Amino acid sequence: MKAVVKYDHQDNCVEVRDMPAPVINPDQVLIQVAAVGVCGSDIHMWHEHQSWKIKIPVILGHEFCGTIAEVGRNVHGFQPGERVAVETAASVCNECVFCRSGNYNLCPSRLGYGNLIDGAMAEYVAARPQILHRIPENVSFEQGCPGGADLRRQSHGA
Ligand SMILES: [Zn+2]
Ligand SMILES: [Zn+2]
Repeated sequence: MKAVVKYDHQDNCVEVRDMPAPVINPDQVLIQVAAVGVCGSDIHMWHEHQSWKIKIPVILGHEFCGTIAEVGRNVHGFQPGERVAVETAASVCNECVFCRSGNYNLCPSRLGYGNLIDGAMAEYVAARPQILHRIPENVSFEQGCPGGADLRRQSHGA
């Protein structure tokens, strides 16, 4: 699949590349990406000005929505074809005090899309169902993608 990849720890090392499409495990769903925002943090990573850890190469993009293409066999409550927006906490430990109190966005082991896990400037992304939110019929993909359509939004950390 085509993807926007940051491929080195230097300024400007971002390009469209062919990357393998993600393969989901039984606890994940596969999202066909419909819209993805460009966050201020993406600009920092483009210029190698980020203050957080990233993997190289990494597919950028963490503010996105799309359509469920495939549902893992252990996942209940979601169906192929549903339109969803996706939170940024791609992976968390599920065991620390933050995870156990519902504040998994603060998990010290959190791996975010587009910096430590391949992100959504791509055709497909694997996601855990806990971070999916259905988008109502009357909300477009562009509107449903955080930071995608509303340029007045404040930027936030990656
Ligand atoms: Zn962001
Ligand atoms: Zn945790």
